[in-house]
Amino acid sequence: MSDAVISVRGLRKSYGEVEALRGIDLEVRQGEIFAFLGPNGAGKTTAISVLEGYLERDAGTVEVLGEDPAGAGRDWRARVGFVLQECRMEPLLTVRETLEMYAGYYRRHRSVSETIELVGLGEKADERAGKLSGGQQRRLDVAVALIGDAELLFLDEPTTGFDPSARRAAWQVVEGLREIGKTVLLTTHYMDEAQALADRVAVIAAGEIIAAGTPDDLGGRREAETVISFRVPDAAAAGARAAVGGDWSGSNGRLELRTGEPTRALNELTAWAIANGVDLGALEVARPSLEDVYLELTGTDAS
Ligand code: ATP
Repeated sequence: MSDAVISVRGLRKSYGEVEALRGIDLEVRQGEIFAFLGPNGAGKTTAISVLEGYLERDAGTVEVLGEDPAGAGRDWRARVGFVLQECRMEPLLTVRETLEMYAGYYRRHRSVSETIELVGLGEKADERAGKLSGGQQRRLDVAVALIGDAELLFLDEPTTGFDPSARRAAWQVVEGLREIGKTVLLTTHYMDEAQALADRVAVIAAGEIIAAGTPDDLGGRREAETVISFRVPDAAAAGARAAVGGDWSGSNGRLELRTGEPTRALNELTAWAIANGVDLGALEVARPSLEDVYLELTGTDAS
């Protein structure tokens, strides 16, 4: 039996003339963190809204936790948690009171104190929601999504507008969800977020999934050529090029070597440098980042 928590075939949705989803196939497995990437207007929120049961689809089959969300009832809802793009909690309730209130909606719920700790709001438990920073409010949103002990969580752009340290803290929260076995579907515009968190990603553009895979494999990234770059005095550049085979280029005083055999190329390059007493300044070895691959896939590369 498949361990798919979300299974989608041929999902279509239009708003009047606008075809927001043009036939999407998708499978998210138990315990997986899955990320939707895609430019503005690609269809991510539409897809999530259908999966959450908030939006009717035009065509296709959708199964979430074994049921069609379009007709699912209260028991199914209790198994699913959401963090929408815009959430607003009652500002005068404290963090603890907010969670106690939401916990009361569920027949079975998580411990309020444990959930506060899980999202890193322990020190703010008795603070009013209206006095939390934006990042802390978002953590409270996640806590509310978790309080019913949902098996599956939808996080729509969970860190948009966060400062870098708040984003890292939010990532820890998501990592915590992984550790307790939750399945998470998130949307994000941040490639480093997808790289850090997601087991698998799907890139949506103009209503279609144009690529899917692990962050390391997406768009043939694993097989992509490695770029070795460094600075040497002008007089040494010709020697370096002659010593190592590959696709050489240079700009701004930096030499770049593209190669499908980075181990061999580095060995030859460093052997040449040591033999000739040349320092490879600011040496870097890089593969295309997830962002490079994403920009190429979505055709939004401005360079
Ligand atoms: P973003 O990254 O900006 O949040 P998204 O990938 O979530 O974008 P959607 O919000 O799903 O994209 O929108 C997909 C397309 O459907 C867009 O062209 C959008 O303008 C259109 N659309 C979305 N909601 C509606 C609506 N309620 N009525 C009409 N058109 C809509």
